Amino acid sequence: MRVAHKEFVMIRLNDIVDQVLAYHPEADVSLIEKAYVYSAKAHAGQVRLSGEPYLMHPLEVAGILAKMKLDVFSIASALLHDTLEDTETNLGDLNRLFGDEVSQIVDGVTKIGRFEFGSFEERQAENMRKMILAMASDIRVILIKLADRLHNMRTLDFQATEKQRLIAQETLDIYAPLAGRLGIDWIRTELQDLAFSYLDPDMYEEVVGGLRRNEEERERYIKEVKGIIQEKLADFGLKGKVNGRPKNIFSINKKMVTQNLDLEHIYDIIAFRIILETIRECYEALGVVHSLWKPIPGRFKDYIGMPKANMYQSLHTTVIGPYGERVEIQIRTENMHRIANEGIAAHWVYKEGKSVPESDSKRFAWLRQLLEWQQDLQDPREFLETVRVDLFPDDVYVFTPNGDVKPFPRGSTPIDFAYSIHTEVGHHCTGAKVNGKLVPLKYELRNGDIIEIITSAKHVPSKDWLKTVKTSRARTRIRHWIKTEERQRSIVLGRDICEREFRKHGLNFTKYLHSDELLQVTKAFSLQKVDDLLASIGYGKISALQAIGKFTSLLEPEEKPDEALVERAERRERPRQPGGVLVKGLDDIMVRFAKCCNPLPGDQIAGYITRGRGVSVHREECTSLLSSGFERRIEVDWDHEAEEVHPVGLIVICANVKGMLAAISGTLSNHDINILQANVRTRVDNRAECKFVVEVRDITHLQSTMAAVRKIKDVIDVQRSSVLDVE
Ligand code: MN
Repeated sequence: MRVAHKEFVMIRLNDIVDQVLAYHPEADVSLIEKAYVYSAKAHAGQVRLSGEPYLMHPLEVAGILAKMKLDVFSIASALLHDTLEDTETNLGDLNRLFGDEVSQIVDGVTKIGRFEFGSFEERQAENMRKMILAMASDIRVILIKLADRLHNMRTLDFQATEKQRLIAQETLDIYAPLAGRLGIDWIRTELQDLAFSYLDPDMYEEVVGGLRRNEEERERYIKEVKGIIQEKLADFGLKGKVNGRPKNIFSINKKMVTQNLDLEHIYDIIAFRIILETIRECYEALGVVHSLWKPIPGRFKDYIGMPKANMYQSLHTTVIGPYGERVEIQIRTENMHRIANEGIAAHWVYKEGKSVPESDSKRFAWLRQLLEWQQDLQDPREFLETVRVDLFPDDVYVFTPNGDVKPFPRGSTPIDFAYSIHTEVGHHCTGAKVNGKLVPLKYELRNGDIIEIITSAKHVPSKDWLKTVKTSRARTRIRHWIKTEERQRSIVLGRDICEREFRKHGLNFTKYLHSDELLQVTKAFSLQKVDDLLASIGYGKISALQAIGKFTSLLEPEEKPDEALVERAERRERPRQPGGVLVKGLDDIMVRFAKCCNPLPGDQIAGYITRGRGVSVHREECTSLLSSGFERRIEVDWDHEAEEVHPVGLIVICANVKGMLAAISGTLSNHDINILQANVRTRVDNRAECKFVVEVRDITHLQSTMAAVRKIKDVIDVQRSSVLDVE
């Protein structure tokens, strides 16, 4: 015998309509009638496992919602809740016939219904419950889902045994706690008891049998305690209703298991309630109870002063009763009692024929609190992340291929998902499949997606990922990878630079890599490891010359480099020159620009091999080049890919009037020219000579600028100069 079955009675539409009109006389019940007619047509010919017409199910669900005193939209939606999934009806039809509100509620119920939850570990179940809440844009979706589950549980007998266990477990894991979280106590307890009866029928029968056996004794005890309380309340002029009854079967069993009790301890399974009119009376009644029986320290809870997240309010206390037994007593007002039973549903109830709409913000604030349930996070960073997310309750919940549920902030991508699995999975992720289909890595995760990550050992993170990821976990891991990677590259580069510079000094860097001297140099820069030194050189924070200077001062005299060797090495080692000149046949020779003619890119040039100072580059028409020997000439050319600026002298002769310098420098800067030096001198002929050293890209850049300067009023002449000093 299942106690809940006594509530299972056939229901007719008229019963529902009458109930609605009873709590809301002005309700427009035509919407309910229309939904009923439509549902009857859509489900025509369908039969439940019990043999009843299918329509019975939506009718019963609607009846449960009417019992919860919900609005006409909820009840119409309940009548239609299985039409999208099980009939030809589509969302457009519902929208056209019943409007946005109803069609969206039905759509929400259908979406949640598509998930097979099965049984879960506690943490998974928690995520599951959160997912259901997050998916339901409207709390009425969840209320209908709970009513749907309740009716399915009441009629579970007709399912196969295996299916019964699965559905019962899921009810216990997901739906009963959900009802509890929403504060709908009567649904929670009924779901628990029904599920328990299928999951452990023997224990269930034992508890029920025990309750039946000691019923008489229990009733006598309840009557006695009630009498004492009522009498005492009356002494203090308080009018309150007192009742006492056993907890639900599931809770009794849990208590028996966890506290190792047997059913003969009847006192422990009874909860007494005192219901009064005002909050003030509640506290007065508490005083009365405490004056009557000794309270057990630590058992008093003031949920009136500090309501639970689901708005539950009551005073709880446990006292030592007339037989030295523990007596649990809850004290609350009528209104609190209603909320304790109906939870959030109480807020959808009609009052005095008028609906009381909660403002959206208030409703969501409430949901938000729900989402902040028990956080068991070890990592403080992860905690911050969670807090941040909860400010925007827009989480999405997705599945791993194994069916685990994971929560993510809205906007998260497969990369976030990959990093949540493992850092290495994140680093090597190249793509993802969502519900079996390939998606790009920037795909935004959606509730209920099943995500599968594709990896490749060769693939590495990209800086761009930082722009798309939403979780701090992914962001931290990517940043860390990039930093490590950059450091690795800097070490390689730093080592390269050192090898070259050391060789110039006739030293073999590799030989010294693990030497004490190099470690001393490292410490001299306040660094720990030689790798740190190499990285710093690679980053350019420390120059190789600084390092060599410190290093050679530590060497024994015989180890010091030979200067001649340095010279030779330098000649051999210099890579492509910063001046941007290519020397035929030699790509690592030292090149410098001859001071006599200071060539610019675009000038015709020639090279001259000097003694021990590499190649000097002259303009072809340079007189000093022409006067030196041909045998040392070498062909050189501009490196057209080099993008560098070169210094060049400019001499401007102009009339000695005010503002000339400003006019000239304005023109120069208009031509994107940087002035390195400037000097103005008045000549005896009342003219001014302005000397500049400026930077230009090449000869064309110089010529066009000179032409522009020439056009300035009062400018008489402009000349190029190879003298790079204005003094
Ligand atoms: Mn259903």
